[in-house]
Amino acid sequence: MIVTASLLLSHLTSEVSKDSLRQTLTHLSTYPTRNTNTPELEKAAEWVASEFKKIPGLRVELMRYDVKKGRRVVADKSVVQVVATLPGESDKKIIVGGHLDTINLTGDPLTAIAPGINDDGSGVALTLECARILSQKRWRNTLVFVAFSGEEQGLFGSGALAERAQKESWKIEAMLNNDTVGASQGPGKLKDKKRVRLYSEESTDHNSRELARFIEWETRGKVKGFSPWLVFRKDRFQRGGDHTPFNIKGFNAVRFVEAIEYLTHQHTDKDTLEGIDFDYLANVVRLNLISLSSFASAADAPTNVRYDAKQAHDTIVRWNSQPGVSYRVYWRESSSSVWQGMVEAGEKNEVTIKGKNKDDHVFAVGAVGGVPISAG
Ligand SMILES: [Zn+2]
Repeated sequence: MIVTASLLLSHLTSEVSKDSLRQTLTHLSTYPTRNTNTPELEKAAEWVASEFKKIPGLRVELMRYDVKKGRRVVADKSVVQVVATLPGESDKKIIVGGHLDTINLTGDPLTAIAPGINDDGSGVALTLECARILSQKRWRNTLVFVAFSGEEQGLFGSGALAERAQKESWKIEAMLNNDTVGASQGPGKLKDKKRVRLYSEESTDHNSRELARFIEWETRGKVKGFSPWLVFRKDRFQRGGDHTPFNIKGFNAVRFVEAIEYLTHQHTDKDTLEGIDFDYLANVVRLNLISLSSFASAADAPTNVRYDAKQAHDTIVRWNSQPGVSYRVYWRESSSSVWQGMVEAGEKNEVTIKGKNKDDHVFAVGAVGGVPISAG
């Protein structure tokens, strides 16, 4: 079992193609702007949809929603974004996406050049690449790949999809937003090729925080010289992204963003192909692939995860299990931000962890590949 899983994982991560990422971004460079107010956004969305349609198994939708005239919106408008679904055996959904729209804050919204190759062409290229690779297999859970629009106007596209998800009672295990994930070089000597920041919603026990912590665990040591850098904040100072509307609706969502942003190039005509480090972007794709394949394979989470009430230096953790589902128990010291150990529990519904006291450790239980639930 484990051998198969690791073979699959190395297959997935070796499939990442810098050429394919480059082709996407080279095409996106042909639009002078992809500002949500312009017809170019529509054209780019149709192109992304046509790329998704080349991938066998995907159901591709041009989703429309309305925006009202207001801040950064020049007139009432119907806006399009792309939603591609790879149906699984279950209706549990895993969402990954980036935003297709761009903005140039130094010029006219309709005419200013806004290439947005890193922000967020990189996230769109990553999403297409994940779709291409993950569609080679059928998964237990349903994968949803999204090229959002209206992000730069106020997260309108992700807001519309999160609202629809709530109305249609989507069961979302995880939503991974990738926004500005293509560069390792900032101004001057600022550089970081080894990490991508992973933001998660405030409050220690928020589901988004547990999702981020689990992504760190599942990907640890699996992409050579590269790892997520957990940031326990919902986003950067006074800024936002497409994960936030999902968190607001009660879903688990996190954001990847490169470690060092070139802030003076962002939202100008300088956000071009030259700024992209394809080795870096490919590594962010790999972290997403490992996480997505893990969530896409996971059975339902255990319920009623609890401690045995007795005072003891060994800790007994129990949960309600489902037949045929294998579980894992994770532990960390209460002051550690990351999981420090894991025990395979197989199909059991109880495990004793020797020498780890529940007074000073946190324990959680998950179905293999699924975000664990903390014991209480
Ligand atoms: Zn962005």
